[in-house]
Formats: sequence, C-alpha cells, structure tokens
Amino acid sequence: METLPTVLLKPGEADRIVAGHPWVYHSSILRLTHTPADGEIVQVKDHRQRFLGVGFFNSKSKINVRVLSPERADIDQRFFEQRIRAALAVRQKHLPGATSFRIVNAESDSLSGLIVDKYEDVLVVQISALGMDKRKATIIAVLQKLLSPRAILERSDVASRKFEGLEESNGLLAGELASPVSVNLNGLRFEADLAAGHKTGLYLDQQVNYQAVSRFAQGAQVLDCFSFLGGFGLHAARAGAAQVHLLDQSESAVQASLRNAEANGLKDKCSAEAVNVFDWFKAQTKTGPHEKLLPKFDLIVLDPPSFTRNRAAVPDALRGYKELHVRALKLLKPGGTLATFCCSHHVNAGLFQDTVLSAAFDTRKVLRRVAAYTQSPDHPVIPMIPETEYLKGFAFELAR
Ligand code: SAH
Repeated sequence: METLPTVLLKPGEADRIVAGHPWVYHSSILRLTHTPADGEIVQVKDHRQRFLGVGFFNSKSKINVRVLSPERADIDQRFFEQRIRAALAVRQKHLPGATSFRIVNAESDSLSGLIVDKYEDVLVVQISALGMDKRKATIIAVLQKLLSPRAILERSDVASRKFEGLEESNGLLAGELASPVSVNLNGLRFEADLAAGHKTGLYLDQQVNYQAVSRFAQGAQVLDCFSFLGGFGLHAARAGAAQVHLLDQSESAVQASLRNAEANGLKDKCSAEAVNVFDWFKAQTKTGPHEKLLPKFDLIVLDPPSFTRNRAAVPDALRGYKELHVRALKLLKPGGTLATFCCSHHVNAGLFQDTVLSAAFDTRKVLRRVAAYTQSPDHPVIPMIPETEYLKGFAFELAR
C-alpha cells in the first residue's frame, strides 16, 4: 500500500474528504509523490501526511481523484462485491418488493462514476469515470455472480465521459436482449427500451412518487404533462381516476404510453397527445374578451425535463417553470391538486417552491402544500455530497 502514488492536499482541503465528499479537484492538490497513470489507484493524504483514503486518479479530469474508500482497501473484485452487496441491502431495506430499481447510484453508494440499474432480469451499466471504465470486466463479473442477469447492457452515453477522456460506449456486455423489457413498477407494467430510452431506460427515480401522487387521483380528471411512458398517468388511472390525459412531445413516447395503458387494462380511461406542453397550455388557456376560463382538471402532474444544463441557465429555466405553473393553475379546479417536480440539481426546493408561489400570486390563487417529494430511495441522497440530490417535488391543493 505504501508504494501507491500519493496525492497530498493543500492545507484546508482535507475536511471535505474526511466528511465524505469523494472528489479531489486539481486546485486542491499540493503535490504528487510521482505522477500516477490515469485510472491508477492513488492514496490521498493531507498536507501533514495524514492518510485520508484511496481512489482513482485521472489527470485529464477536473476531478483529479475520486476517493473510493477512507481505508487502505485494495480496489479489487472483493472490494466491488462488498460495495455492491451493501448497495443492494439498502434497496432491499427501502424498496422491499421492488423488482426494478437502481442498484448502484455512484457517489450515493461510494462508487463514484458507476451506475447500475436493474430492470427485472436485465442490468444496465453506466460508467462515467476512467478508473471505473478500466475495471469494467471486474464489475461485470461481480454483477454476474450476485444477480445472474439475463443480459447486461452498457449505456455509457453521458456527456460527462468526455471530461474524463472517454468516448461513448454502448452495447451488450453479456447475454442477449432482443426486445423492450416489460418493467414492473408498483405492480404496473411499462415497456422500456433499454438500448435507447431516456436515462438508462426509464425514470426509476420516480417509482415511489408515482404511487404517492396517485392518492390524489380517486374520481379525478387527470392531466399528466411530460408523461413519457405514462408513469404518473397510469398509476393515477389504476388508483381510480375518472379520466387521464397524457401529454408528451415525443410521438414514440406517446405511442409507448398508450401501449402501456392497454397492457395494464387501463386503455378506456387514458388518452394521449404528442404535443409541446407549452403550446398546448397556451391554446387551452386562451380566452376571448369576456370569456371566463373553465378549469377542467382535479389533478395535474408536471414533470418536465431539467431545462438547466448549468447554473447560467437557471434564470431562463425558472421563467419556463413559472409559465408552466401559471397555465396549470388556471386549469386546476377548486380543491384540485397540482403535483409538480423539478429534476434540476441547480434549482433547490426553496427556489422551486418560490417559483410556484410566484405563479400562484400571478393567478391570485392560494396553495395548500400537502406533500413534499424527493427521489426514490434507490437514488440515495448523501447531504455531504450535494451533487447526489436533484429531484424535488410538491403536491399543492388549491386552498382558494
Ligand atoms: N414523467 C415522466 C418523465 C418525464 S421526462 C416519467 O415519470 O417517466 C421528460 C419528458 O418530457 C420526455 O418524455 C420528453 O419527451 C418530454 N418533453 C420535453 N420537453 C417537452 C415539451 N416542451 N412538451 C412536451 N413534452 C416534452
């Protein structure tokens, strides 16, 4: 272990690592004992030579070291097996009974740069760090041993790979996969195209929220905006909604959501349109000179894409969020519920709620907050690592 290349941190830079944040930026480094190869394991020490942990080195990345362990662990097959077993235990504890879930959520599970999603008996792996990429074969061997999947697919198509000096890498790593997988979420089936669908197939991070929001659906006229495969809408339909209308700009998503409605015996209650939600809202909320808008919905779900690639995009994104909320509130019946989500890491819950309240002010509505949501527990939030938290949501009722 003592022969490992050593990364010494500048004074004051150790605390974050001790607190559990695994990233060592280039600017935090005092010096290297000798230059490690990219992807190699290094030990990290503070400026007084006190040991802080071991991790992957990559000179090409802004994150020069990704700390994997605060101990002098060997990063070998046994290490990955222990980590993945521990991650599985967290899911079994917090999502008992789920058959599709995120097994490994990178920093949330002390495996920076690695995501593993389980869709029934198929696994999807996403690697965003060079050190992980170099150990792909070991990781695959562990996954085979622990889970015996029918197939393992790689979806390393995230933009951040280029900051690590990595190319995109997609395709089958093991087994065979000919068709979309029928994914069970809370007892409903969703057809997921794991080779091309959003994220690694679908939005596992909303699994718990689909069920939670559906409690507002009894007898309701429901509008599911940015519906993708129909996650919120179909859960609402099953929970006793009178009618569910799904909106997504992607024609293929709309077609898939209608097939999902049919597969779950919910076709009669569901309709779907391939439209831009902003345009649809504009058309629906347009009124003539002496015309009064009649609100139509008892439950409106807003689950848009992030709109913020970076911090600079936040003001524009907030304007977009506000416009959406103004229009949605106009279409919500008295006593109705707005379930609204924001998946941008750069917009925190306070800022998001302020935006909703600003829309409520403009429409002269008063909201009662009846629920607050976060990402499902297979995407654990580690508050010491703010980057692990991104999804937030609220349910508001129209108080008046
Ligand atoms: N609620 C979904 C996830 C939504 S992801 C779920 O839980 O699975 C965002 C979706 O919004 C994508 O399906 C994308 O096609 C769609 N989308 C993005 N911009 C849009 C727009 N302006 N109008 C309609 N749909 C849009």
